[in-house]
Amino acid sequence: MSKKLSTKCIHSGGIVDDNFHGNITPIYPSITYDYLKSDAYPRYFNTPNQLSAAKKIAELEGAEDAVLFGSGLASVATSMFSLLSSGDHVILQKSLYGGTINLVNTEFKKFKIEFDYVDVSNNNELENALNSKTKIIYIESPSNPLLSITDIKSIASFAKKNNLISIIDNTFASPVNQNPISLGIDLVIHSATKYLGGHSDILAGVVCGSNDLISVIKKSGLNFGSNISEYISWLLERSIKTLSVRVLQQNYNALKIANFLSRHKKINKVYYPGLEKHPKHDVAKLQMTAGFGGMVSFELNDSIDSDKFVKTLKIIQPTMSLAGVESTITSPAKTSHKKMDPEDRDKMGITKNLLRFSVGIEDADDLINDLLNALEINE
Ligand SMILES: *Cc1c(COP(=O)(O)O)cnc(C)c1O
Repeated sequence: MSKKLSTKCIHSGGIVDDNFHGNITPIYPSITYDYLKSDAYPRYFNTPNQLSAAKKIAELEGAEDAVLFGSGLASVATSMFSLLSSGDHVILQKSLYGGTINLVNTEFKKFKIEFDYVDVSNNNELENALNSKTKIIYIESPSNPLLSITDIKSIASFAKKNNLISIIDNTFASPVNQNPISLGIDLVIHSATKYLGGHSDILAGVVCGSNDLISVIKKSGLNFGSNISEYISWLLERSIKTLSVRVLQQNYNALKIANFLSRHKKINKVYYPGLEKHPKHDVAKLQMTAGFGGMVSFELNDSIDSDKFVKTLKIIQPTMSLAGVESTITSPAKTSHKKMDPEDRDKMGITKNLLRFSVGIEDADDLINDLLNALEINE
């Protein structure tokens, strides 16, 4: 029977408790298994709670299989290093999560993996970057922190035409809003630390794709050993039961807040794909099905000091991470993009007054009042 996403969040995956007939998935913390009867070992990605949570996420993304890792970045790194060899070339979207850029810039060179950052919405740039060694095209949409939107379908067809493996970091959208495999993408990565986990209390990652690609990643991945534990796998499975209700509320709150911010005179710019004035709103509308996600970035005008503004907020908390049920806010220029050249940073739009707001599931009007109060106090 085909199931809709919110039903899958509850009922996909899971382990039937035949011993005690409990209703929920039991935890299997065992590291050792009877080798005459089982080849299970946590580092081989084949223990019960890993498989159970991975199956749930694979079904949410419409993928044949999925594999869990100890962090989002472990998913990115293990996928890349499993699929690439020295001499291969990778095309990457220009605006990506800072940790991914750091991984590519520092580690790829050591292994003689070539790469180019490209404006992936520009066909000429894409074609020019392509060479006979190009193996992967890697994108992120919406991107962190400026919520840029990449046309997923057109990247997937570019990849198919040129025999590349297409990979997307789908963390910001979550499977509730966007299922890139249905748009032709080969591998979908999530930092499960974010929306899938959703409570700011677990670090995890996942890669979804075909049986063939996931088995290649598992085969190499067991040599890299960046596994998740059974406990965290269990917590992740439990968290995903509320994924759909959480993200739908975050979509609703974020759109309302983005509209509020874009009307306020002390706000220079609002970055949110759900706003009609977002340059790729039409593309976002086509590929993001339920809503536009819970991340809103905005730039305060020069009359306000961003540190003072953040300190004045009472409900919204200043933290680095994102996608929890609680609202959090951060200054990318002072955290994730601190190490960048300030001029380059400004050119990208990551100015000192830019804030990245991860909208939680509190009442939207309380959040708006919190923002309004901080905007007024900073007169
Ligand atoms: C946080 C994040 C990551 C990295 O995930 P970790 O779980 O912190 O390793 C990757 N991509 C995006 C878009 C993220 O926001």
